[in-house]
Amino acid sequence: MPIRILSESLAAQIAAGEVVERPASVVKELVENALDAGATTVTVEVRDGGRRLIRVADDGHGIPADEVGLVFHRHSTSKLATADDLGAIDTLGFRGEALASIASVAKVTMVTRAAGELAGSQLRLEGGQLVSQEGVGAPQGTMVGVENLFYNVPARRKFLRTDATEKRHIDLVVTRYAMAYPAVRFRLTQDGRSVFQSPGSGELADVLIAVFGVDDAKQMLELVAGPPDSPVTVRGFTSAPSLNRGSRSQITLFLNGRWIQDSSLAYAVVQAYHTMLMVGRFPVSVVLVQVPPDQVDVNVHPTKAEIRLRDQRGVFVAVQRAIRQTLVEAEPIRPAEAGWGRGEGSWTAVAPREALAALQPVRHVQAGLDLVGGTAGQQTELGDPSRHAGDAATEAASLPALRAVGQIGGAFIVAEGPAGMVVIDQHAAHERVLYEQMLASRAQGIATQALLDAVTVDLAPDRVTLLEEHLGLLVELGFDVEPFGGSTLLVRGLPALLGQVNPAVALEAVADDLERGDQPLERTLEERVIAQVCKAGAIKAGQVLTWREMTELIRQLEGCQSPHTCPHGRPTMIQMTAQQLARQFERL
Ligand code: ADP
Ligand code: MG
Repeated sequence: MPIRILSESLAAQIAAGEVVERPASVVKELVENALDAGATTVTVEVRDGGRRLIRVADDGHGIPADEVGLVFHRHSTSKLATADDLGAIDTLGFRGEALASIASVAKVTMVTRAAGELAGSQLRLEGGQLVSQEGVGAPQGTMVGVENLFYNVPARRKFLRTDATEKRHIDLVVTRYAMAYPAVRFRLTQDGRSVFQSPGSGELADVLIAVFGVDDAKQMLELVAGPPDSPVTVRGFTSAPSLNRGSRSQITLFLNGRWIQDSSLAYAVVQAYHTMLMVGRFPVSVVLVQVPPDQVDVNVHPTKAEIRLRDQRGVFVAVQRAIRQTLVEAEPIRPAEAGWGRGEGSWTAVAPREALAALQPVRHVQAGLDLVGGTAGQQTELGDPSRHAGDAATEAASLPALRAVGQIGGAFIVAEGPAGMVVIDQHAAHERVLYEQMLASRAQGIATQALLDAVTVDLAPDRVTLLEEHLGLLVELGFDVEPFGGSTLLVRGLPALLGQVNPAVALEAVADDLERGDQPLERTLEERVIAQVCKAGAIKAGQVLTWREMTELIRQLEGCQSPHTCPHGRPTMIQMTAQQLARQFERL
């Protein structure tokens, strides 16, 4: 075929493909426009999973009659004027593409009236071409109707999934924006049925109830506020460990009011639950991060769901710290499950702060704690960069004082706490104690195991460059490595904790982690520590303990930073409150 210039409408359709992938993308763009227009109410109406109709109406500032003719032109926007503006975007839109893209692949109607104008305008477009424009009476705000999406793009239509799938994607878009904008009232109807409504009260907690239901919402903890002077603020809610899912899909992240996909920040959330959740289980979290607009580049991808941060590490740490601190502060003891307490399994998390305040603070018995012996403040949890000495003071007081009462089945310790009866799994509890003990000793410096003979390791040039940039970090980890010219490194020693490993394998692992932006080797080292805990032989089930041993174990557990779960994430203790007991005896 000879070279030729594509027709305008074909070029537009191709470009539209980047922005409008499926009906939910249309909903996203229209909702973003409504929010940018300062709407307080956004109504979304959908038919046939968005194939037949998507209609988004808002009460925002509307579009002046003399400008409305422009909005369906590609690159028409009121949100950006100069290239400098690109450096600090504070609106959701800015590319001026969405309406043009949508109009090129559907039949579109717009009715809008600007604040301060008497009459509104109504426009109709088909396949991007203006069919009619007239003055009409209309309420202030904007309504965009999109019919027969992809009617002129059979290739795209073929890739649409079932109505149910498309509906679900639309639900997700609307509920996400409702969470990011609690002050805006959202309403979503699908095929005439109201499927979601948020109250617009300004309280995220109210939206969470609408999104997750009361039971799950009750188990969400409000994130504690970070340092007041920090340029990065992190707000939102995260689930108590008792509420968890089989995938990361319920970790919802927003940056400056924009829903984003960012696996690194999602990992920061997951990391914060370290040893509080079983492997393969993930929290439900809604995290709203705010950074100065000039700290983020949102112009990475047409859908704007990917972003680039200037200080990725700083934001990672802020998110992880906010979540970790919330969990540690609120971490109550797991309640006895239904059946025991007549289904009264509701977590104390309903009002975590108040509930905690009611509990006696832990007396930290420093003397005699041979494991954390007075250094609790300096313990650094592996792989938790947010954990510095300063945090420890607030983090340590997470377990109320417990009094050993006796042992059951040679496996469980019964104790009394301020709220009632606590049953401790002695094996799990001792594993937690040993784990934190090992971390503490590790924090005092990682031992290097010198190799009998120094070995040279050849790696790909980009990997060697990466590792050489981080030589200091390698030393901290316990490596004794130096550049040996070309793409060769000379290794004289390895972290003792790694045991007998091939130096090349260890260095490749570090390079992998660095590339991913993870703390190098943190997962590997951690697994080692856990394996060592298991090997070190925690107190077994079936081992009869004296009262003194039980008391000692409880005291050691009290000194732990995360006493409620073992390193594998299983609970170390469950609780039955005096009230639950009273209820069982029908005294309430
Ligand atoms: P962008 O949002 O990137 O500017 P769009 O194509 O989505 O591009 O919209 C083009 C312009 O149309 C916007 O900049 C805005 O001025 C106007 N507009 C679109 N939707 C609305 C709305 N719901 N309310 C008010 N103005 C709107
Ligand atoms: Mg837009």
